[in-house]
Amino acid sequence: MTRDKVPTLQEFVEGLEKRNPGQPEFIQAVKEVAEGVLEHVRDHPRYNDHQILERLAEPDRVISFRVCWHDDKGHVRVNRGYRIQNNNAIGPYKGGIRFHPTVNQSVLKFLAFEQTFKNALTGLPMGGAKGGANLDPKGKSDAEIMRFCQSFMSELYRHLGEDVDIPAGDIGVGGREIGYMFGQYKRITNRYVGVLTGKGMEFGGSPIRVEATGYGAVYFMEDMLKRVNESLEGRTCIVSGSGNVAQHAVEKILALGGKPVTLSDSSGFIFDKAGISTEKLAFVKDLKNNRRGRIEDYAGEFGAEFHARARPWTVPGELAFPCATQNEISADDAKTMLSNGVVAVAEGANMPSTLEAVKLFQYARIKFAPGKAANAGGVAVSGLEMSQNSARITWKEQELQRLLRDIMQEIHDRCQHYGGVAGEANYIDYVKGANVGGFVKVADAMIAQGIV
Ligand code: NDP
Repeated sequence: MTRDKVPTLQEFVEGLEKRNPGQPEFIQAVKEVAEGVLEHVRDHPRYNDHQILERLAEPDRVISFRVCWHDDKGHVRVNRGYRIQNNNAIGPYKGGIRFHPTVNQSVLKFLAFEQTFKNALTGLPMGGAKGGANLDPKGKSDAEIMRFCQSFMSELYRHLGEDVDIPAGDIGVGGREIGYMFGQYKRITNRYVGVLTGKGMEFGGSPIRVEATGYGAVYFMEDMLKRVNESLEGRTCIVSGSGNVAQHAVEKILALGGKPVTLSDSSGFIFDKAGISTEKLAFVKDLKNNRRGRIEDYAGEFGAEFHARARPWTVPGELAFPCATQNEISADDAKTMLSNGVVAVAEGANMPSTLEAVKLFQYARIKFAPGKAANAGGVAVSGLEMSQNSARITWKEQELQRLLRDIMQEIHDRCQHYGGVAGEANYIDYVKGANVGGFVKVADAMIAQGIV
């Protein structure tokens, strides 16, 4: 058999750009993976024979649809909904739904691609997908959100199933939205199945699903530090975001003795020199989850600094947890963080660091955990929610806490296994480790299943 030549990174990216014009986020995500994986493919030519990377970078299916709904004034509103089913080699499609005005095909393709690797790293049988709509949920009433979710699900339901595709929450989609979408799925299909995760505890949800992503990111940080006999104890932590992931990252940082001092939202960030305590965090949870207010209110309540239209990366600290959104750490931010003493970054959000920022962190040899590894705790517990739904039981919280801790440790160890750097016994390239670790599992399953 004649073997195809393994492309150089440049050749691969040129083809990718040609096939995906106007999709910068998707190209960024695939490029980062290709960098580490092409090296591995060169040493294992069967992956090139089967064109695995090329196939992974072409989603199985891109679904786009119109979402019409009535606002409270009776006006008809029109949005665009999507579901990207990237790959189901190791299990049914699984990945969140995002409601945010920045949602487009490029953003969701990048997220679905990342999700494929992330899900593989958890060790659970889940393929990769992502979905959402370009809806801005800010200022919408509960009734408007309900009508939107119902309309969204009226089209999406035909592409879902407990053994086909199981969405979860993401930015702008929490327990309220999952509840409305579950209700509509049940009404249309007359089936009571675990077709969504992140459900309320009264109707099939799992203990600690809400906490899992933020907790998991902090566990990953703990494992990176433990490897070099360090801990979070007494260390200043810079956190961005103030939603689900950020809130629970702060909660776990506090439990492990760290000192979180920042939080942000799309209007700016707060810097609390005294530290964000458990009581102050309770205020943030109420503000964001119940009152749906702005983080600026924290500054008024506790006398902290508020910096409008800025991100928290100028604040000195040792450990960073970006937990808001993609590309929130630019190259300039990374330089500032390094000169301010940041020694480790664990990404709670998906791709919060630009490619240039990642390169700077790697060049400086700080510990850097990419989102697909560090934030995999959420989807891991979603996978466990699926198992509980199939068996129609609910496990005890303590058991799930233990499973989450073990899974994060296994992900760390898998990254370490594939992330070694020749001649540098003390340095782990967690980016390469996560990319190659996730790739190998999906690739071997794809080869076993033939050219499909
Ligand atoms: P939430 O909607 O609960 O919170 C998102 C936070 O990020 C809010 O504080 C929001 O501020 C801020 N934010 C969103 N977009 C922007 C923007 N363009 N610029 C500045 N700030 C922004 O979402 P999650 O906490 O669930 O998700 C946060 C990140 O974590 C995302 O990248 C998501 O993909 C990732 N993630 C989430 C998982 C989960 O289980 N929820 C699992 C794995 C990854 P504002 O309210 O002002 O918009």
